Amino acid sequence: MTNVIQTLKDQASEFVGIRRDIHRHPEIGFQEFRTSDLVAQSLSEWGYAVTRGLGGTGVVGQLKRGSGTKRLGLRADMDALPIQEATGLPHASCHAGVMHACGHDGHTAMLLGSAKHLAQKGDFNGTLNRIFQPAEEGLGGAKKMMEDGLFEQFPCDAIFAMHNMPGQPQGRLLLRDGPTMASSENITITLTGVGGHGAMPHYCADPVVAGSAIVMGLQSIVARNVPPLQTGIITVGAFQAGDANNVIPQTAILKLSVRSLDRDVRQLLNRRICELVEAHAKSYGVQAQVDILGGFPVLVNTKPETDFARQVACHLIGDEHVVPQIEPLTGSEDFAFMLEQVPGSYLFIGNGDKASGGHGACMVHNPNYDFNDDNIAVGSAYWVLLTERFLTDV
Ligand SMILES: [Zn+2]
Ligand SMILES: [Zn+2]
Repeated sequence: MTNVIQTLKDQASEFVGIRRDIHRHPEIGFQEFRTSDLVAQSLSEWGYAVTRGLGGTGVVGQLKRGSGTKRLGLRADMDALPIQEATGLPHASCHAGVMHACGHDGHTAMLLGSAKHLAQKGDFNGTLNRIFQPAEEGLGGAKKMMEDGLFEQFPCDAIFAMHNMPGQPQGRLLLRDGPTMASSENITITLTGVGGHGAMPHYCADPVVAGSAIVMGLQSIVARNVPPLQTGIITVGAFQAGDANNVIPQTAILKLSVRSLDRDVRQLLNRRICELVEAHAKSYGVQAQVDILGGFPVLVNTKPETDFARQVACHLIGDEHVVPQIEPLTGSEDFAFMLEQVPGSYLFIGNGDKASGGHGACMVHNPNYDFNDDNIAVGSAYWVLLTERFLTDV
């Protein structure tokens, strides 16, 4: 264990308190008013120049030291989820139907812990940008901050972020270079036929039959169009049509989640879905409209920045506690937008496994999930060491 972890362990109780306070008062995407007030006030108390309003509730804290020209960006997410908490913990959510079930309270606290330490004792030379973003959960808060000029106002040579990972031993750091998290596309297909009496289908154009053929046909895109060594997922999560036994409905709606780990495969999937739906609809005599509602791009960690992050992780906790190259994940993450513009790396920190008990192994987005407070010291220490090594004199 390095000294920096011990130092941050000694200071951790303050940030465990902040984490639990944020946990008790969760706010969903773009509503992080109390959380962003807390973040902004803390940063300005410690001497950061604070900018608010990017992406609505986003906060950027900037600290410059020395004459160094390098610029580093560290990002945490602040939003909670519309889930009723069931942990029964003393710091459980006091807002009905909203909880921090993805650990963004912990991500915010870890970044704040390192912010205070670096402001008071940090040994670095350059510009440190701390990016606290709203609305990571499906709403694309990262993109909103960028549209509001995040990287024009705060240029960064590299950016880094961290997410907890339940089921992995507490404090283990897991990295990967290359495609690490999937793109995620929401697509809605609206089929319009001719409704009528269920006893007289020959007078109708049935969107339920057309939709059923489309559901099956879509799977052939993954099986027959996506190269076998690539990843493609098409999930039809909703099929909504009709409400009576004897009525052929006028419309059917399919809602899809489409994922891939490659930018070309993402384009291929979108193109083939449009072609297949159009052809199927025509063959069943119904009209089809395909709305690609957008989503998150593939999250690609760049190699030099990930190599750098690995060195920091190994130095901090020892090689035996670092997984240098994990398998990619089919979940998605809006930090991918930032990584499209700036090189960087997104890593994971183990939230605890079954052996360690507690809530650490409980999967994110589950009502029994809780962020593991033992990670606040190690996560903050990682940010401190990464900053001091990135923003050096040379
Ligand atoms: Zn989440
Ligand atoms: Zn999350």
